[in-house]
Amino acid sequence: MIEKNRDFPREITVLKAILRRFTLNPQLQTDLESKLSRKSAGYKGEKELDYHLSQFDHTRFYILHDLIIPHNNTHFQIDSLLISETFMLVIDSKNFAGTLDFHPEFNYLLQTLNGIEKVYPDPILQTRTQAAQLKSFLIKNHFSPPPIEFLVSISNSQAIIRNPGNHHDVRVRVGKTPAVAYKIQSFNDKYKNGVLSIKEIRKITKLLLKSHEPYIPDISSMNLPMDQVKKGVQCPECQQNGMKKIYGNLICEKCGHLSRDAHIEALRDFFIIFGPAITSRQFSDFLQISSIHQSKRLLLALDLDSSGSTKGRIYTPGKNFPLWD
Ligand SMILES: [Zn+2]
Repeated sequence: MIEKNRDFPREITVLKAILRRFTLNPQLQTDLESKLSRKSAGYKGEKELDYHLSQFDHTRFYILHDLIIPHNNTHFQIDSLLISETFMLVIDSKNFAGTLDFHPEFNYLLQTLNGIEKVYPDPILQTRTQAAQLKSFLIKNHFSPPPIEFLVSISNSQAIIRNPGNHHDVRVRVGKTPAVAYKIQSFNDKYKNGVLSIKEIRKITKLLLKSHEPYIPDISSMNLPMDQVKKGVQCPECQQNGMKKIYGNLICEKCGHLSRDAHIEALRDFFIIFGPAITSRQFSDFLQISSIHQSKRLLLALDLDSSGSTKGRIYTPGKNFPLWD
């Protein structure tokens, strides 16, 4: 049973909004673009893991995707967690390309890609640490944890996995994403004794769901040029900024595209970049709608939450304007 689906990563939403809305220096532009492409590839790998997990018989498992749990003044993150009556399994998804030499004896991974060698922290150790943090979190919350196993799922189908030291952990704990379901089976065979009741599993699931804190990137730490913001409503068809309001529609002066809701994405960008509060003056300025009357009509139709007096009224997203979905 899927108890928690994977959320779309907020970091991707934020990076896209920044790249749409700022004129950046070439260095920062390149950095953010490559970060976006890494995050997108990582998310694609996680979705692939979800797909392969959904293909095997998981009726015995409670599955939670994408958990971020605050614990001991930090957070630990789990890409996928499977809970059964006999054991728990932490799966970490990695999207490394190229040739991957695992060196668990020295806790690193050597990637060779296009002739360039790069060293990364050992994913086996990272996932082992997540499992240990989960165990400690459960103990702190008065549960007796079952055995907690862990796997590393390599989603890049072109990647070559190598185990030069012939380590047991690499053989058992690392696999291509399509093979992960088969590796789960071997843990299933290993643990025969039920240690968690269904009631306990439900309690643990509830605790994890309640503790989960979605990650929101801190825009203020990104050194963005706040005086280089691109205002206006972006055309969903040709990406040009500056759609104009005519009667019930917005029209793109470049390609002629008509839209009834392009302003919603512009407002979402504003909330993501400047925080979840806007005045009607900020709204008409950011969307570049010169008529106060038209701007006000658009704003009120969005059914946002509001507070304050008529003049200085502040609008916030509220339940009718989900920011991240
Ligand atoms: Zn257009």
